Amino acid sequence: MTGPRVVIIGAGVVGAALADELSARGWTDVTVVDQGPVPATGGSSSHAPGLVFQINGSKTMTEMARYTVEKLCSLDLDGEPCFLQVGGLEVATSPERLAELHRRHGWATSWGVESRLLTPAECAEHHPLVDPGTVLGGLFIPTDGLAKAVRAVDAQLGRARSRGVRVLERHEVLDVRTEDGRVAGVVTDQGEIPADVVVCCAGIWGPKVAGMVGMPLPLTPLAHQLAWTGQVPALAGREEEATLPILRHQDADLYYRQRFDGVGIGYYGHRPMPISPDELLSVDEAAVMPSVLTFTPEDFEDAWTETQRLLPGTRAAEIEEGINGLFSFTQDHMPLMGESPDVKGFWVAEAVWVTHSAGVGKAMAEWLVDGHCSSFDLHECDVNRFEPHQLAPEYVLARDCQNFVEVYDIIHPLQPMEEPRPVRLSPFHTRQRELDAFFLEAVGYERPQWYGANARLLEGRDIPTPNDWAARYWSPIVGAEAQASRESVAVYDMTALKRLEVAGPGALAFLQRLTTGQMDKSVGSVTYCLLLDEDGGIRSDVTVARLGRDVFQVGANGNLDLDWFHRHLPADGSVMVRDITAGTCCLGVWGPHARDLVQPLTDADFSNQGFRYFRAKKAYIGTVPVTALRLSYIGELGWELYTTADLGAKLWDTLWEAGQRYGIIAGGRGAFASLRLEKGYRSFGTDMTFEHDPYEAGLGFAVKMDKGDFIGREALARRKENMRRRLTCLTIDDPTQVVMGREPVYDGDTSVGYVTSAAFGYTIGKGIAYAWLPAELATPGRTLEIGYFDRRVTAVVAEEPLFDPAMERLRS
Ligand SMILES: Cc1cc2nc3c(=O)[nH]c(=O)nc-3n(C[C@H](O)[C@H](O)[C@H](O)COP(=O)(O)OP(=O)(O)OC[C@H]3O[C@@H](n4cnc5c(N)ncnc54)[C@H](O)[C@@H]3O)c2cc1C
Repeated sequence: MTGPRVVIIGAGVVGAALADELSARGWTDVTVVDQGPVPATGGSSSHAPGLVFQINGSKTMTEMARYTVEKLCSLDLDGEPCFLQVGGLEVATSPERLAELHRRHGWATSWGVESRLLTPAECAEHHPLVDPGTVLGGLFIPTDGLAKAVRAVDAQLGRARSRGVRVLERHEVLDVRTEDGRVAGVVTDQGEIPADVVVCCAGIWGPKVAGMVGMPLPLTPLAHQLAWTGQVPALAGREEEATLPILRHQDADLYYRQRFDGVGIGYYGHRPMPISPDELLSVDEAAVMPSVLTFTPEDFEDAWTETQRLLPGTRAAEIEEGINGLFSFTQDHMPLMGESPDVKGFWVAEAVWVTHSAGVGKAMAEWLVDGHCSSFDLHECDVNRFEPHQLAPEYVLARDCQNFVEVYDIIHPLQPMEEPRPVRLSPFHTRQRELDAFFLEAVGYERPQWYGANARLLEGRDIPTPNDWAARYWSPIVGAEAQASRESVAVYDMTALKRLEVAGPGALAFLQRLTTGQMDKSVGSVTYCLLLDEDGGIRSDVTVARLGRDVFQVGANGNLDLDWFHRHLPADGSVMVRDITAGTCCLGVWGPHARDLVQPLTDADFSNQGFRYFRAKKAYIGTVPVTALRLSYIGELGWELYTTADLGAKLWDTLWEAGQRYGIIAGGRGAFASLRLEKGYRSFGTDMTFEHDPYEAGLGFAVKMDKGDFIGREALARRKENMRRRLTCLTIDDPTQVVMGREPVYDGDTSVGYVTSAAFGYTIGKGIAYAWLPAELATPGRTLEIGYFDRRVTAVVAEEPLFDPAMERLRS
């Protein structure tokens, strides 16, 4: 036996995949415990119909699904396959859905999964039950298919057992014992199992099990209807379990799979039916199994009517059985993976579909064994990504239910959740409402996208209108705000961005170790730098201001940065990290007149000499004490002004009143995004993620290799030698062809990369798209094409930044 003592709670598809992947990496002192009989334990995996549609807007989710397909295709159980690769078909019955299928085809291409768009007749050729007269077209993915979930559990546990892993069925976990903030053992109804690492793969029971160590787990078990027809005459005599592709009819919230001569029908169109994990019955109490509730036929009526319309052959069949099956939903459709922030050694792999199960198993195993995951970028999956309010039970329930309702909806990239809102308000909110702001949501904050009051700026400007899709959550005012910001002065509400205070005698050494930047600089210095993983992948980009000898303010990206800092705190208590976001606020005051506006309001020297670019200073703006940082994400002269939340409104009013003579405006996030891209500033999570290194992302300047050791340094030295791709700036001449991100990029007929961020540049008069491309194609002047819905958009590789490359604006 090698490796630490691991207990995996749950022998569903996730626990089984993890046991297999861990033992394959040499961790064999592993015990899998389940309250039910193995392999059909009574959890969600025991009744899942097993449809695996790989395509997802998330690159990570698609890659984890692809790995699941590859793995299950290579597995069998006593000669019986674990995967039936029948292909996957999605059909459109509305023009909007047809467009959406084109978008999904784009994602498939971007993430490297083969897919084909089909005519109605071709849909019927692939799936003869489909009435071609009811559909407008389809999307076919040849490698999709049916996972045999229980078989996959059995086969993966079998391999794990052969390497020494123990599987204990009918052992209910009653408690997880901790000692000094670490897991020590798992208490079952049949005794205690000592453990150094516990991984909760308990599916819908996850919140209950995580609760044993006091960890909130934001997921909701929701019932979802699955019904089976008796014989469909058109399928009579079929001896193979399934040869027809799995089928999705998202316009009606339906999916289908063949089972010999019958059809399984899954339905998401019914009312959300959440259940508390505490209400789940035990294996022995449950009529069928704990994850199965009684079928409610009245909720299924519309599904059956619509099924008979799409698949006329089913009219001669009956619904013979059905369940309301339970599985987990989360507020962003993403899984919950990672270690508890408070209890060392307690990990979760939760809210995972069969579709992603093997990928999640692999990711978790790498993370546990190597300390980081190198196969997938997990920033969207990390269980520590949530803000405190996002863990509130009422919030979790509302958002998870909404996600159930929207599971097959066409969601615009900017579309916010409707409920519960508003949640967080910046101190500028009242003023923003007075200016008729159009709000979207950013980490719970209401954040203006543009201001209706700025409609007056449109006069005399010719702002091009983008295509219909890009014109949603957009107004020409966005363009006017962007242009006005470069002409006069604008205030931008930056409150939603996370701010951390790192303080104490060990703060400098701590930041030296965690960031790529040189922190040992004078008080008042500001440094843009990166947080890296051990493998050199970018975890975040941060701006660090040294406000005192032992006090630093870090402009971060989100809760994962806070979590990363906490995990690396020295044991001697010499460093304190505090999230100061909620108690503070920030206004970006930017534009050619920024100094004219701010200087008269303060005794401090805001001249170019007295307050240089990338420096910080404490000052008073009128009566408001601020920390001013001279930097700008929009590429204009100006400052980020931070103050405490109670003084935010006063700061706004002071600037607003004095700014009238310069025509001050408030700018929204739409303008900000455009201006940022004109300057070529990267955004973590969109432009670069854990999978990219600083050099390929064009951020090599932020890495100070000569400063001494830091996390990721060793790996970087290797990665630098081997740069195969580049984050590349493309411009689009046609002003109507604004793309949105995640679209494939083509060189001729070959897909060569994908778009990250995109916007129209209202100063340069062109569309902008950043894209990951092979290094050899990233040469300025090269013409490529972006796949956008059903068309190709010509784009040209450009020298960056597109605006003010000499930095005259910023440094003036
Ligand atoms: C009707 C329906 C249809 C679905 N269709 C699909 C589909 O087509 N494609 C797809 O990808 N996904 C589908 N899903 C979702 C999928 O089934 C689940 O997301 C997946 O099976 C979850 O796997 P898991 O291993 O996390 O959980 P589970 O399979 O539920 O395993 C968790 C295990 O933990 C054990 N456990 C919990 N608490 C304890 C305890 N205290 N002590 C000991 N053991 C414990 C349970 O007994 C259980 O075996 C469907 C779900 C439903 C309900």
